[in-house]
Amino acid sequence: MLNRETSKLYDDLERVLLGREEIAARVAELGAEITRDYAGKTPLCVGILKGATPFYCDLIRCIDLKLTMDFMATSSYGSATKSSGVVRLLKDLDHDILGRDVVIIEDIVDSGVTLQYLKENLKGRGAASIKICTLLDKPARRRVDLKPDYCGFVIEDAFVVGYGLDYDEVYRNLPDIGVLKEEVYTK
Ligand code: 5GP
Repeated sequence: MLNRETSKLYDDLERVLLGREEIAARVAELGAEITRDYAGKTPLCVGILKGATPFYCDLIRCIDLKLTMDFMATSSYGSATKSSGVVRLLKDLDHDILGRDVVIIEDIVDSGVTLQYLKENLKGRGAASIKICTLLDKPARRRVDLKPDYCGFVIEDAFVVGYGLDYDEVYRNLPDIGVLKEEVYTK
């Protein structure tokens, strides 16, 4: 794991918002909650590429159930730090979800447009249930009526990177989540 004291990547952060230990503890709690709620079921865990991958990998290892994995990828047009509200599906599921209990696993809910689109898209395919699990939630910026079923942390309205979250595809490998220095994206 990267060392927070010596890694140069951390020089681009204004501050660390959530440290790796805090994240790991909360992910374990979410895993335990999902384990309880889906007892006797075999949920299909759908990760949203690429941002959710570290969270996804850590979370599924805290869910003590038989489960299956699948992935979707979306992109939203817009500037690097603000989404436009137009969602494009880049990768669809590999498997049929008819009768399945689907848990969508996402890195962050911001305007909510991406997840609303994905939920609507999956609804028509006959899933038994669809729930949303997000690591981060920025409710201050919500533009649609969407509430995650499971949420790791509610955060302030700041642009964050790390633990899967990127700026221009960089910083996803930071083990912690931090607020990016404004000068990095206004340069
Ligand atoms: P929404 O459709 O809810 O506005 O946006 C969801 C997507 O926008 C997330 O999956 C993520 O890719 C991106 N996003 C929203 N807020 C942030 C942020 O603070 N940092 C980063 N790196 N991406 C964000």
